Amino acid sequence: MIVERDVLVVGGGPAGLTAALRLAQAGLTVTVLDEQAELGGQYYRRPAPEVAALWGDHRPEGRRLVERVRAAGVECRTGHLVWGVADDGRTLLAADPAGRPVRLRGRHLLLATGAYERAIPFPGWQLPGVTTPGFAQHLAAADHTPIGDRVVLAGSGPFLLPVACTLLALGVRVAGIAEAGTPYRAGLRALGAVRHPARLRELAGYGARLARARVPIWQGTVVLRADGGDRVSAVTLAATARPAVPVRTVEVDALCVGYGFRPQTDLVRLLGCAVRADAATGDAVPVTDPAGRTSREDVHVAGEAAGIGGVHLATARGRAAADDILARLTGRPAPRPARRIRRLARFAALTEALYPSPADLLATLLPALPEHTMACRCEAVTAGEVRAVAAGPAAGDLNATKAWTRAGMGPCQGRACGFAVAGLVREAAPAPAAATPVFPARTPVRPVEIATLLDLAAEDAGTDGPA
Ligand SMILES: Cc1cc2nc3c(=O)[nH]c(=O)nc-3n(C[C@H](O)[C@H](O)[C@H](O)COP(=O)(O)OP(=O)(O)OC[C@H]3O[C@@H](n4cnc5c(N)ncnc54)[C@H](O)[C@@H]3O)c2cc1C
Repeated sequence: MIVERDVLVVGGGPAGLTAALRLAQAGLTVTVLDEQAELGGQYYRRPAPEVAALWGDHRPEGRRLVERVRAAGVECRTGHLVWGVADDGRTLLAADPAGRPVRLRGRHLLLATGAYERAIPFPGWQLPGVTTPGFAQHLAAADHTPIGDRVVLAGSGPFLLPVACTLLALGVRVAGIAEAGTPYRAGLRALGAVRHPARLRELAGYGARLARARVPIWQGTVVLRADGGDRVSAVTLAATARPAVPVRTVEVDALCVGYGFRPQTDLVRLLGCAVRADAATGDAVPVTDPAGRTSREDVHVAGEAAGIGGVHLATARGRAAADDILARLTGRPAPRPARRIRRLARFAALTEALYPSPADLLATLLPALPEHTMACRCEAVTAGEVRAVAAGPAAGDLNATKAWTRAGMGPCQGRACGFAVAGLVREAAPAPAAATPVFPARTPVRPVEIATLLDLAAEDAGTDGPA
């Protein structure tokens, strides 16, 4: 059986929920699919009921948005992972919370699949206690659980600041923040920020909180390695310009390292929508107009999946995409996307300019990456193995390197290792810049149970499945 709707929205975060509400209020039939057990996405991640009862809700506006979406008659399918597209190129293939296959078709698709954190490996990043800042943020905000007692945050990007403040609020000792760039010595480069007073106030608030807690920000600094037995116990830092030369070692029981976010474009690419290789970030970014229209008539992209820009831009893009889809499905003229989108996109561009380009950072850090470093943690593939294959049988081809080494074939499907593996391949045999810097999208985009596939095949054959 195929579920038919006017609009299918994949992703129940700020962008998807904002769009779904608008479309349902306009009388369209809308289904939101999200792999998480609760709606809200990353920014409005819902606290566990016991946590909310004890500590309150860290983002009540998220709860209110979810309630309005449900009240507007949107069908909300949580715990539904969209893992593929049927041969017709339109029907989405999902798995429900019990692993049963679900087929859904919409007159229009809105992909609001969000982002995931960018990682650059270093010796010891597979140690227990080494996580991303986003994971530490969720554990703190949604579960009121500290990632550790003495923590260093490292990597690059503005996100390190709110995460440090969230950890401080939980009584964690933040030993320091290692920022690979020098954004807080920006001088004239940051002048554009005066046009964004709300963001400036936010930044100043984080700065004041960190100063009161005497949290040092080591700018121009990266992680050289993490050490420890059954858990990380120390992190050694180096100057970004000399990433192999240790400058300090800090004792920790947790280390959070992240280099910003990457758009989640697996479904966008699986549906054949055009993407471009962003030279500065090393990401594949969907080709869209300000309303989120893609190269396919029946597909829009909104939120961070359309390009990294933070929650406010994600929400504005959700609104603009909904208005445009509505115009398409009702034949009314499409409204011009709000000026707000352009202003928020300018702020995102300014932020990007203040922090080091991830692609440049990768090119600086990779040559210092020891051969034995785990490049792909899921499949235990080392940097040395990737380099040898990329320079050898794979002849500089990313997908061939994946096939030879299995790097990127694990549960994360390359979300943790893809950025660095692509860099190692480029290092071994420079490829033209146009080459898509991510593993090709293929069905399933995430691991699914064999039973789900067998049930689907049985449905196609009109017989009872293994279940
Ligand atoms: C780990 C993490 C933590 C973050 N924390 C913050 C924060 O504290 N503050 C902040 O300002 N920004 C944070 N961000 C940035 C965040 O991207 C934006 O703030 C905002 O949540 C983006 O909204 P969105 O609707 O575009 O995407 P998201 O909020 O990411 O929502 C997308 C949703 O789609 C779901 N999804 C993706 N693919 C599929 C699929 N195939 N099938 C089904 N469901 C799917 C995801 O699970 C997610 O629930 C965080 C990002 C990450 C990755």
